[in-house]
Amino acid sequence: MREAEGQRTFTGTGVGRGVVAGPVLRMPEPLPEPSADPFAGDVTLEQARAVAALSATRADLEERARRAGGHAQDVLEAQAVMADDPALAEDVATRIAAGRSAERAVFEALATVQQVLFNLGEPMAARATDVGDVSQRVIARLLDRPVPGPPESDEPFVLVAADLAPADAALLDLDRVLALVTSGGSATSHTAILAREQSLIAVVGVAGAEQFEDGEIVLVDAGAGVVTGSPTKREVRSARSTAAERVRVSPRSPGELADGTPVPLLANLGSVTGAAGALALGAEGVGLFRTELLFLDRAEAPGVAEQADRYGELLAAFPGKRVVVRVFDAGADKPLAFLRPDEAEPNPALGVRGIRALRARDEVLRDQLTALALAQDAHEADLWVMAPMIADLPEAAAFVTLAKRLGLRTVGTMIEVPSSALLAAQILGVADFVSIGTNDLTQYTLAADRLLGPLASYQDPWHPAVLRLVKLVGDAGLASGRSIGVCGEAAADPALAVVLVGLGATSLSVTPAALGDVRSELRRYTLEAARAMAMDALSAASAAEARAAALA
Ligand code: PEP
Ligand code: MG
Repeated sequence: MREAEGQRTFTGTGVGRGVVAGPVLRMPEPLPEPSADPFAGDVTLEQARAVAALSATRADLEERARRAGGHAQDVLEAQAVMADDPALAEDVATRIAAGRSAERAVFEALATVQQVLFNLGEPMAARATDVGDVSQRVIARLLDRPVPGPPESDEPFVLVAADLAPADAALLDLDRVLALVTSGGSATSHTAILAREQSLIAVVGVAGAEQFEDGEIVLVDAGAGVVTGSPTKREVRSARSTAAERVRVSPRSPGELADGTPVPLLANLGSVTGAAGALALGAEGVGLFRTELLFLDRAEAPGVAEQADRYGELLAAFPGKRVVVRVFDAGADKPLAFLRPDEAEPNPALGVRGIRALRARDEVLRDQLTALALAQDAHEADLWVMAPMIADLPEAAAFVTLAKRLGLRTVGTMIEVPSSALLAAQILGVADFVSIGTNDLTQYTLAADRLLGPLASYQDPWHPAVLRLVKLVGDAGLASGRSIGVCGEAAADPALAVVLVGLGATSLSVTPAALGDVRSELRRYTLEAARAMAMDALSAASAAEARAAALA
């Protein structure tokens, strides 16, 4: 926190780019922890009470899921399943038999699940809030008390909370809630994801947010990730005019810089159902279709005909547009039963994953490429195909040669292993395009497993080492005239998106909900300005310094 002339400024992770000022209303306190005193009543009746509360909670969450729709629906349905989990019911029954009240048994059983999730680190740790919410809902039912939920008010307000359960975030009254400020949460927590989906201005992970009082005016600047208590009139005025400026870019206008340099804005998708939503948000095509997500539940590799149908559905949704499909990226964070390594791996992120797994099972790769070629020939979309985890020229050349032999027209590779960034000029000698996967490029550059919570701070694509690798790829793109995409999460950070273009990216692919913010931000800078920001960031010594230098 910084204090200047009675002002209090707190920082966190902003979601979106909006700015707004309004009075605070705080989320009511959670229910008190149920007493651990021994339970002396009828165990069978107590167990039945717990079962009834669990199943009523499941029904309530299912109903909320139906009303919410979108990503919120998936989250609420997952919570409903949690409440109805037979293993949970059994654990609760055992605890009651051991002398706990139903409230205490539910509290303890779900606290254990929360702890396991925390120990797994991000992204699983972010799900602990969802479990905590299920616990509060079941206990509230047992106590016959209302579930603590967002406050109601006739006037618009800024909601301040420790964290917001998905069930609450999904059904917020968006006519009243101007912005959301939470002390907990991270960029990948459901609170942040749901806020992004609803275009709700939010700053999460704000240490000290609990100090704001009901009724106090705060200025929430999501772009800067800053919340200011008691802002001056001038700050509020300037915040409002910046907000008005941002909404002027319509989703129907293409991605471009202030000087008209085109930067096509594409969508990252993992299923065909997301296509309509992406188009509505102005996606100019698909920059990354993660095919492995279609078949996560399969024990056997899907056949050519089935795959051709699925890819055909995707292409049919984007007639005349670019659709970049990635062949199966199996392993580490995306295990596929039919492309599992032969031996257990102590470090799966450094193991037989991506193209390595496909080369070990050549027939799976051939079938997938054959299916893609069939879909390509039957549809109008401009299909581009790429391989994950390519390390060098021979690997790139083998993939491009095979894909072209099987009939694919535009074939490229991802750049997500540092060796391939260093050798991008060679790779662009055989590949039609490359797309930089900054998620993996960051984990491999900083040697920090992207799934390990304690190492989450290393997973920051603003790191100048990552930016320098991106620049090598950008320079190789400029020299060869080939397309350089970025499809990692970095492109969804509006300020970083500008820097990536300054480093040589020619298109960006992001989660559809981020398209609007990235589009608005690109319009604020010329190519020359973007390059200058990139240069400032490159010479920094840390991710935080690079961000500060670019935005100075
Ligand atoms: C990446 O690594 O940046 C990427 C886009 O691929 P994934 O996140 O699916 O590994
Ligand atoms: Mg990757």
